[in-house]
Amino acid sequence: MSLLEPRNVIVIGSGPAGHTAAIYASRANLKPLMIEGLARGGIPGGQLMITNDVENYPGFPEKITGPDLMKAFREQSIAQGVEIITDDVIKVDLTARPFRVWVGDEKSEYAARTLIVATGAQAKWLGLASESSLQGRGVSACAVCDGAFFRNQDVIVVGGGDTAMEEATYLSGICRTVTLVHRRDSFRASKTMQERVFKNPKIKILYNSAVDEVLDVDKGEVTGARIHDLKNNEKRIVPCTGFFVAIGHTPNTDLFAGQLDLHDNGYIRTKPGSSYTSVAGVFACGDVQDFTYRQAVTAAGTGCMAALDAERWMGAHG
Ligand code: NDP
Repeated sequence: MSLLEPRNVIVIGSGPAGHTAAIYASRANLKPLMIEGLARGGIPGGQLMITNDVENYPGFPEKITGPDLMKAFREQSIAQGVEIITDDVIKVDLTARPFRVWVGDEKSEYAARTLIVATGAQAKWLGLASESSLQGRGVSACAVCDGAFFRNQDVIVVGGGDTAMEEATYLSGICRTVTLVHRRDSFRASKTMQERVFKNPKIKILYNSAVDEVLDVDKGEVTGARIHDLKNNEKRIVPCTGFFVAIGHTPNTDLFAGQLDLHDNGYIRTKPGSSYTSVAGVFACGDVQDFTYRQAVTAAGTGCMAALDAERWMGAHG
């Protein structure tokens, strides 16, 4: 098939949303092409590739690691006939149909009747070397995913927005103590969520505080954090076994800015209850359009919606 002969469906992204969309599209005989992306140092598969154990994805009573789960998703896509290109999309043109998608470099151009955007989001990190060394070994950006590993243990949550309040509150139901570390003397989170935190006897708050280092890289596990008070420069070590960074996420939407309607926070706007974007024939699923749930299982669910929406849209538009 020539590159420019329009594909029925091109799926951009290879997390749970992208693979589910591709599997459903393939089973509907749409012969989808997936561009799986080379993000995160050349590893496709999305955020689960940096997650250790996944215990909340239904169907795996024995826990499975994030990378193994994504390997299974990919194998299932291939078994269902999905064609996969391992490269990054560098540009898209959604102004006319068929849509155009450039992959790797300007010379590899593909055309698509429908496009499913499943490019995901990435957690923001503090940027400490110790934080990245201990990712998946006590450092996490998702309490719902990893909180249960710290049952009856002491954990730290960093941040002052709604996510930090929500994660601290969630973790307080599982862990022995939660220390909430915030760089200013007030939270930006909604008042209701702040109140919930203030009333929670298990949550201790350190205002005006910055983390200098997550301990202990030499041991290969989290034993605490070195924190300093930004007002009086006092330093302290707060012991913990789990360290949760909750300072926001960035959706991977640079490719679509100016072409698809985005929310003010940069996420793709979809028509409620569907995967329809502002451009007819372009559908979005997974974390790139979801700043509320952000779970592998919800991403997979919206991936299924996108494939069914694309199939029905093509049926209606020839
Ligand atoms: P926000 O951007 O709202 O908050 C990020 C927090 O992290 C801020 O307190 C910020 O500090 C802090 N921060 C940012 N960078 C750093 C850094 N380098 N070092 C230390 N601290 C840092 O992100 P959220 O993820 O909390 O929320 C995103 C959006 O999602 C919001 O619109 C929120 O309302 C929404 N949301 C809604 C929920 C709900 O309604 N249930 C649940 C979760 C999120 P500072 O305040 O100083 O800038």
